[in-house]
This record gives sequence, structure tokens and C-alpha cells, in this order.
Amino acid sequence: RNLLVILGFSFILAVVALLAVGLTQNKSLPENVKYGIVLDAGSSHTSLYIYTWPAEKENDTGVVHQIEECKVKGPGISKYAQRVNDIELYLAECMERAKEVVPQSQHQETPVYLGATAGMRLLRIENEPLANRVLNTVTNSLSRYPFDFQGARIITGQEEGAYGWITINYLLGKFTQKLRWLNLMPKGDDTQGTYGALDLGGASTQITFVPQNKSTESPDNALHFRLYGKDYSIYTHSFLCYGKDQALMQKLAKDIQDTNGTLRDPCFHPGYEKVMNISDLYKSPCTKRFETTLPFHQFQIQGTGNYQQCQQSILQLFNTSYCPYSRCSFDGVFLPPLEGDFGAFSAFYYVMEFLNFTSGETPSQEKVMDKMKEFCSLRWEELKTNFGAVKEKYLSEYCFSGTYILSLLLNGYHFTADSWKHIHFMGKGESGQQMEVPLKNGRRGSCGIMR
Ligand code: AMP
Repeated sequence: RNLLVILGFSFILAVVALLAVGLTQNKSLPENVKYGIVLDAGSSHTSLYIYTWPAEKENDTGVVHQIEECKVKGPGISKYAQRVNDIELYLAECMERAKEVVPQSQHQETPVYLGATAGMRLLRIENEPLANRVLNTVTNSLSRYPFDFQGARIITGQEEGAYGWITINYLLGKFTQKLRWLNLMPKGDDTQGTYGALDLGGASTQITFVPQNKSTESPDNALHFRLYGKDYSIYTHSFLCYGKDQALMQKLAKDIQDTNGTLRDPCFHPGYEKVMNISDLYKSPCTKRFETTLPFHQFQIQGTGNYQQCQQSILQLFNTSYCPYSRCSFDGVFLPPLEGDFGAFSAFYYVMEFLNFTSGETPSQEKVMDKMKEFCSLRWEELKTNFGAVKEKYLSEYCFSGTYILSLLLNGYHFTADSWKHIHFMGKGESGQQMEVPLKNGRRGSCGIMR
């Protein structure tokens, strides 16, 4: 059950488990299977995952399959703070789906968990009673279903970092080593080496890896656990307010200070215009440090599309002027020397995939920068015509998001031109049934856990 919970909070498990199901689709599931339901409540959306595992192997880790992902329609749960009465309906469609997928005879013994991440951490900072109200309403709603409800809570940034790390290493077969015969692992990859995990959400971002030096200068960033009979000591940190949506809010709050209500913004395309309320900008605890009294209630963004200037503005978000340790990432947070390969997923992947950087080998840092320069300078009207099918909010923000990703990785985490090559952008394949991973020959392919 613990494994189930651990794995549940990241979409990536879903991907591999689906593949595993795909691999065995012609065989019927073992008769005696158990089910588990996990709701991953991110800042921008909630997904419900259903897992199965053979009952007779319940104490034997490693054979968890995802059989269903149901995307809850609507925003993240923190957006329901002012309308908690809508939460019941919000969750209903996916919970009804769960009732159909899990056989009725198993409903009562099927655990349900909900884990909320940085969107709810921010709401708790803003207004703790309101955050509790949201969680209580979620609890009441989920308790009404015939499943074995186990709780709804806000997970810590440390837990989130650890879950992401466990998930990608599980998917890469780093714990079970069953992929070796397929020769799928990149060259030089030794059987011991785990991948570091880089996770970019809307409200927070996590970096997690096994550092060279076991003794750490910062116990807050250290986690120790045992998995598949092996002890792991990992470094992890979750940066609240440095997810891509909150980082953009910070940047806007910083830059709007020096304007008269019109922000000529290099992180948006020329021809792009958008009006925003100052109150919406200042609502987030992430913008507090830039809050001043302004003589206007609204401001207008006018895109100028300049990658270099955009990067300069983003860099100001990372405070690298103080470090109470021997080395830091930014904002005085300890960061040991980067070690080994890294899997970058969630929004790291969505953005890099849109920019066409996820097929083939990880492109050089220069190549990505050159592409960003060209991309940011494209006119908004032209982009809209060429990418009519892409959600307008995402499309308008890929220039900012791509530039932010480069700044975070290079200036925030201090990846170099050399260590950049060890970052692998990983996510769902087109079918949603597979995980894209780097292959030994530098190309990419799909893999899952073989049994
Ligand atoms: P979270 O909801 O906290 O897990 O964050 C997910 C982040 O990924 C949010 O910033 C979303 O806006 C973003 N996101 C999700 N899908 C896409 C996509 N297709 N393109 C760009 N960003 C995306």
C-alpha cells in the first residue's frame, strides 16, 4: 500500500503502468487482484489514477499496474476555495468512473487517497482556514463513495520530490533492473546509477538526486529510505513559487513596478496583448516580495519577443547573492554538486515537447537557446495561425516557459554545457500509453517495467 501511495502522486507511473498493461493486454489479469485509487491534486489540475496489483503478492513490491487515468475537468482544487460547494460535482465524474472500473465486489476494500501539492500549500499560506475547508469538503465528498477512504492531505515538498524520484527510477527499471536484457539504457549507465528527478509544476519545482557525498550540510534536504532491499540517501528540495505559473506571476509583479500600467514584456510575442488585474497578481503569496502601491488596478502586457531580455528579467528572480552553505542553487538553498543523469518531466517535458526538443538526443544548450531566440521573436498572430490547435494560454506562454526552464536549469541549478547533456526530457508518448526514454543509440523509444 505504501508503494502504491508513493507511486501514485506522479503521472509517470501511470505511463509505465499503462504500458505494462499494454504488454499484457492479450492476457487476462490475474483473478485475485486488488485495486487502489489515488487522486493527484496539482496546482492546475487533478487526475485520478486507478492501480491494480495481484493480491497474493501484496507484500511483494513492484507489480503495480495503472489501469485508468481520469482527468478531472476544471482547475486545481485550490481554485475552489471560494466555491467549496462545487467540489462534490468537480470530483463526481472521475469517482463515478472509478466505481465502474473497480469491480463492485472490491469497492469496500479499495483504498482512496488524495494528495495535494503546491497549489494547496500556497492557499494554506494565504488562508489556512480556507485551505482546511477545501480539504474537509474534499474529505466529505470522497467519503460518500463506497471505497475505503484513507485521507486527503497536502503533501510536503520533500515528499513530492521523493515521489518524483522514486517514480522515474521505478519506470526506468533502476530498482528492478529488468530492462537490462532489452539493452535500453544509455551507454555507460551502471546498474547502480539512479536518475535524478527534475519536476516542474505550476506552483513549485523539485530537484532530487543521490549526491556523491552522503553526509549533507543541510539535513532539511536529506531523505533516507529503503526500497527493494537497498538503502538510499537522497538530496531533495522543493522551491515553492518557482513552478512555471508562479514564476511568471513573480516576474510580472517585479516588472510592473517600473511602469505606468503598460508592461512591454520581452517574454511574450510581438503583437501579443493581455490585460491583467493587479489584485489577481497580488493574490498569490509568491508576489508579496514585489508588492507596492500602484496608481492603477489593471495593467496591459504588450509582447516584444526578445529572448535575451526575457532571460535577464527572469534571472532577477533567483537570488544568488547569499549562501549559508559551501554551495547553493539560489535563495540561500543548499545544493550539492550535480551527479549523474537527470530525468526532467511534467512541465519541463510539456514545454520541451512543444518546442520539438524531445525527439532524438537532448539538444545542446546552444541549440535550445538559438531556437528560443527565434521562437520568442515570432509574431503572435503568426503563431496562432500556425498552432491553432494548441490551447491559447499555453501557446502564449511557451516563450516565457522555455526561457524560464533554461534559466532555472543553468542559472538556478548550475547545469553547465557539459552536465546539460545528462538531462533527459521524459514524458508520455503520443498514445498516452508509453514513456519516452533515451535509448542507448541516442534515439528515443518507449519502455516500461517488464515482469
Ligand atoms: P501542476 O498542475 O502543478 O502539476 O502543474 C502543471 C503545469 O504544467 C502547469 O503550469 C500547467 O499549466 C502546465 N501544463 C500542463 N499541460 C501543458 C501543456 N500541454 N503545455 C504547457 N504547459 C502545460
